[in-house]
Amino acid sequence: MFLHMKSGLAIRQNFYVRMIKFLDLQQVNLKHAPEIESRLLNVFRSGWYLLGEQNQIFENNLKAYIGVPHAIGVANGLDALRLILKAYIELGVMKPGDEVIVPANTYIASLLAITDNGLIPVLVEPDENTCNIDIQQIEANITSRTKAIMIVHLYGRIVFDEMLKELCQKYQLKLIEDNAQAIGARYGNIRSGALGDAAGFSFYPGKNLGALGDAGAVTCHDDELATLIRALANYGSSKKYINDYTGLNSRLDELQAAVLDVKLKFIDDENAQRRQIAKRYLSEIKNEEILLPQMPVNEDEHVWHLFVIRSKKRNQLQQYLTDHQIQTLIHYPLPPHLQKAYEYLNKKPGDYPITEQMAETCLSLPIWPGLTDADVAKVIQVINDFK
Ligand SMILES: *Cc1c(COP(=O)(O)O)cnc(C)c1O
Repeated sequence: MFLHMKSGLAIRQNFYVRMIKFLDLQQVNLKHAPEIESRLLNVFRSGWYLLGEQNQIFENNLKAYIGVPHAIGVANGLDALRLILKAYIELGVMKPGDEVIVPANTYIASLLAITDNGLIPVLVEPDENTCNIDIQQIEANITSRTKAIMIVHLYGRIVFDEMLKELCQKYQLKLIEDNAQAIGARYGNIRSGALGDAAGFSFYPGKNLGALGDAGAVTCHDDELATLIRALANYGSSKKYINDYTGLNSRLDELQAAVLDVKLKFIDDENAQRRQIAKRYLSEIKNEEILLPQMPVNEDEHVWHLFVIRSKKRNQLQQYLTDHQIQTLIHYPLPPHLQKAYEYLNKKPGDYPITEQMAETCLSLPIWPGLTDADVAKVIQVINDFK
């Protein structure tokens, strides 16, 4: 009897100390183990590791899924965005010193793509409700040197409307999508990645469609742009050893293309699982210390890469959740304009108050396909008990 009770207690304690992970990549990927393992083995045995059949298959499936004529596999999401801007410079659409409008609260990679090309990022504050660039504020930031708007579908939520489209037409601006966080999101029947002139995708392992390492892609509508980006990603060469441009080496490994091609088939289902979790958090988290994100009226516009809550007691809340075995992250603690890397932009605290307040109050909760109902329930209950 005594022994029995003791072991029961041990089991319960064991259950209690299990950490709810922010993201369990092992679980996410092992679900597809048989197919991924056999595709990887085939690539290994084929002896062909770059610019081959797997890239072709994945690019064809990706462009069909997004609904665009061109998809180009590249090495990572940052390169995808760098290559788009580099191609526009080669085409004479823009030149170093020109300006690109970008949200102030994005991940620093969006800005790095701009500044690596000698272009100037013009930061615009986000809308407090969507956390996406405030489209109403864009026009006031357009100058004679503005050549493009880089929208970022941050946290997986689409940012797009007719006004944005009209602004691009009126001022002859390229619309570039940083689609690193939002693969699968739709504006009406159009998927992110097909909304602008060109889009950069990241398949970093933690993204909604994640590789087993770094990977990325560009999608676009224009044939000439696509051909140029493909060449730029391969040393600026479209014919072996004939170099028309000073390009980069930014190719997608065949191994990664094979993995991504398997996982692409499940992206809608996995995004739906994320949306289900978001809906539970939204309806069941009730705590006055916490501001919840909003579900767009059209639910398809959000694929919930991140579920970001805000609280004035953010640091305390994060510690409390850690103490209760719930892992959270902060996206992102310091906005680009306050990073040492961008000292030369001469920005100071207070220049982008909404962005800065978001950085101080935001906290990302676990949300991933495979997170169990019991774990979601625990996150909700623990947060509701926070004072
Ligand atoms: C992840 C990410 C990138 C960069 O992608 P990498 O594949 O890591 O280079 C760019 N922009 C945003 C918004 C991202 O979240």
